[in-house]
Amino acid sequence: MPDLLLIGGATPVMLERMQARFTVHRLADLPKGWLAENGGTITHVATNGHDGVKPEVMQHLPNLQAISCYGVGYDNIDAKACAARGIPVSHTPDVLNAEVATTALMLMMACYRELLRDDAWVRSGDWERKGNAPLTRSVDGQKVGILGMGRIGQEIARKLEPFGTEILYHTRSKKDVLHRYCPDLVEMAREVDCLIVITPGGAATRHLVNAEVLEALGPQGTLINVARGTVVDEAALIDALGSGKLGWAGLDVFENEPRVPDALKAMKNVVLLPHVGSATVETRAAMGKLTVDNLIAHLDEGRVLTPVPECAHLGK
Ligand code: NDP
Repeated sequence: MPDLLLIGGATPVMLERMQARFTVHRLADLPKGWLAENGGTITHVATNGHDGVKPEVMQHLPNLQAISCYGVGYDNIDAKACAARGIPVSHTPDVLNAEVATTALMLMMACYRELLRDDAWVRSGDWERKGNAPLTRSVDGQKVGILGMGRIGQEIARKLEPFGTEILYHTRSKKDVLHRYCPDLVEMAREVDCLIVITPGGAATRHLVNAEVLEALGPQGTLINVARGTVVDEAALIDALGSGKLGWAGLDVFENEPRVPDALKAMKNVVLLPHVGSATVETRAAMGKLTVDNLIAHLDEGRVLTPVPECAHLGK
C-alpha cells in the first residue's frame, strides 16, 4: 500500500478509510529523524488548514504525488510550488459554506444583542438586583459590508437577506451578484454598520483590515472576522476597541492561534471563539469525507476532485 503522511488529526472515520488504502504515518508519532530517512517513501499527505505542510517537512518528500487538505483555507501550503512540481493540492470547498456563514451570523448577533453580557446578567443575579438589562441593538435593517464575496461570502449574504439588511461587498474583482460592489474598502467601511471578513489568509490579504479601515467603521461599528487572523491588524484592532474608535468585534480567528492577546480577553465589547467556523459534527464529517475522497480519487484515477485554483490544471 502507498505511504501517506498524516499531519495533524483525523476523525476515526477518516482514519479507517485512509488505512484501508494507505499505510498511514502520523507525523506527531514519528521518531526523530524518521522523515529525513524515510520521507522518500511518502506519496500522499493529508493535512489541515492550520498545520499545512511546512517547508521543513516538504523538503523530505521528494516523491510526493498529492496533498489533501481538510479545510478550504490552504494558506499554510505553498500551492504554487506544488503546482510547479506537478503535485495537486486539494481542499474542501462548498461543504462548509453554510456552517461558516452561520458562525458569522451568530457572532454578529451575539455582538448586536449582547448575548454574553445578558447571559451574565441572569447568572450574576443582576436581573434581580438591578432590574432589566440595558437595551441592545437590532440586526434587522443593518447595512453590512462583506469583505470577500466568494463561496462563503455569498452564503453569508444569503443568510442575512431575511433580516432586511442592505449588503455591500469589496473584493479585487466585481462579482456576478446583485449586491453593491465597493472598489474601495475604506469607503465601504465608512458606509456600513457591520463589516464581515471572509477572504483567504496569506500574504496577499495580510492586514487588509488596518487602523484606517477600523476607524472608518467607527464607534458604532462592528467587525466580524471568520476568515483568518492575519487579515486583520490585531494590534490596531485592540487599540480601536480599547479607545472607542470601534464599537464591537466578533472574532473566530486570531493572528497567533491558539494564543489570544489578554487585552482582547479582558474586553467586554468582543465575542471570542476558538476557530470553530466549520466545527460541527455534520460539517466536519462532510469535510472529512471529501478529504479522503480526494486521496482515493488520486490513487484510483490520478486526479483529485476539488483542487485548489493553483492546481486546477493538474490531472483533470
Ligand atoms: P473563495 O475563494 O470562494 O472566496 C474568497 C473571496 O475573497 C473572493 O471573493 C475573492 O475575490 C476575495 N479576495 C481574495 N483576495 C482578496 C483581496 N486581496 N482583497 C479583497 N478580496 C479578496 O473562498 P471561500 O469563500 O471558500 O473561503 C474564504 C476563506 O474563509 C478561506 O480561504 C478561509 O481562510 C476562511 N475560512 C475560515 C473558516 C473558519 O473556521 N473560520 C472556515 C472556512 C474558511 P477576488 O479574488 O476578486 O478578490
